[in-house]
Amino acid sequence: MKFTFWGTRGSIPTPSNPQTPTQEYGGDTTCVSLEWGRDGLLLVDAGTGIRRAGFHWLQSGRKNFTILFTHAHWDHLQGFPFFAPAYLAGNSIEVLSPRLPNRPAGNIIEKALYAQQEEPFFPAGFPELRANITFREVQPGEELKFSSGKETVRVQSALTRHPGGCLAYRFDGLGRNGPSSLVFATDNEPPIDPRSPLLKMTRGADLLICDGQYTEEEHEKRRGWGHGTPSLCLEQTVAAQAKRLLVTHFDPGHSDSQLKKMEDALIAAGQKRGVAATFARQNQEILL
Ligand SMILES: [Zn+2]
Ligand SMILES: [Zn+2]
Repeated sequence: MKFTFWGTRGSIPTPSNPQTPTQEYGGDTTCVSLEWGRDGLLLVDAGTGIRRAGFHWLQSGRKNFTILFTHAHWDHLQGFPFFAPAYLAGNSIEVLSPRLPNRPAGNIIEKALYAQQEEPFFPAGFPELRANITFREVQPGEELKFSSGKETVRVQSALTRHPGGCLAYRFDGLGRNGPSSLVFATDNEPPIDPRSPLLKMTRGADLLICDGQYTEEEHEKRRGWGHGTPSLCLEQTVAAQAKRLLVTHFDPGHSDSQLKKMEDALIAAGQKRGVAATFARQNQEILL
């Protein structure tokens, strides 16, 4: 299985600039992909990173896509109007939308994707997209299966702690050395509660990808905003007995040098706890 970070930034795209260089860790908002087997592909979220992902698969002639969404905050769907495969007749895109608690009826991602392309926000309306785009909902705790040839990836979901709700996903499939698993848990302010469905779902995973947007000081001032810190991510990894941690959803105010300092502190803390812990980087590929 191959996991790729197309976008690692939280909240708003952060192009590299002299005050806040972001070239190393990345400035595009959240989009990641999982590939397996002959041609298995799942995309998660459609932040601005999905623009490059779209061109990548367009070049390879791919026509079928599945996009799993974690939630409808704008940094997770603002790249969709620039996802080139959506404009081509003959392509098909299945969109999986989380059914979040205490939300009005209706598919939230369908509603949000339509709304962000409405006049006057964008020149091409959603109905002008030529691909066959279908929507369905994922319930928290629901299990899904996706196959490529004989190889199947099992997907589980659990709610994170985030304003308005958000789903984390666990992917289980065949890795290079046998069964392999990873959990993508962005937009989460973790309570380290072993009874939480997210921690239960993370148990024993080979890799946890986790939201560590804030420094400890920032988190003190932003409690309840729904994001974690690298050390909370590490606590979550240890509590779930996951083997490896990658931190993502970087704060738009954090430059490469600040992120490097935060990452060095995390690496040292991880070594003490026996966990390989680093920060994700845009375009990074992880082979599992
Ligand atoms: Zn976000
Ligand atoms: Zn969010």
